[in-house]
Amino acid sequence: MTLNILIVDDSAVMRAMILKTMHMTDLPLGEIYQAANGQEGLDVFNQHWIDLVIADINMPVMNGEEMIDRMQENPDTKEIPIIVVSTEGSKTRIERLQYKGARFIHKPFSPEIIRDTVRDITGIGVSDE
Ligand SMILES: [Mg+2]
Repeated sequence: MTLNILIVDDSAVMRAMILKTMHMTDLPLGEIYQAANGQEGLDVFNQHWIDLVIADINMPVMNGEEMIDRMQENPDTKEIPIIVVSTEGSKTRIERLQYKGARFIHKPFSPEIIRDTVRDITGIGVSDE
């Protein structure tokens, strides 16, 4: 099985960094899609099967938290694992996102923390070693 991943971040540089990081891991990657805000992210679900979302919080049009809320309202998307990657410093907000089921990784991040979190949240790639 491979992982179809959706990367949602308003920074093209950050999306590229996350993409590069994913390729540095030994995770079995499928298709990787990108979106520049939450609304674009939601649009991707209508067109493609997604196994994992890696999302920023602060974005124009629709932020990451609102996207997560919308995903949870929709039976088709509510079970999709979400990793939030952000510079967010508010403990309250981080805990609220975790309560909503998202995992949280601080920027800047190491490839290892991304890999381990993806493995943990999806159960993929764990038995390969
Ligand atoms: Mg941002």
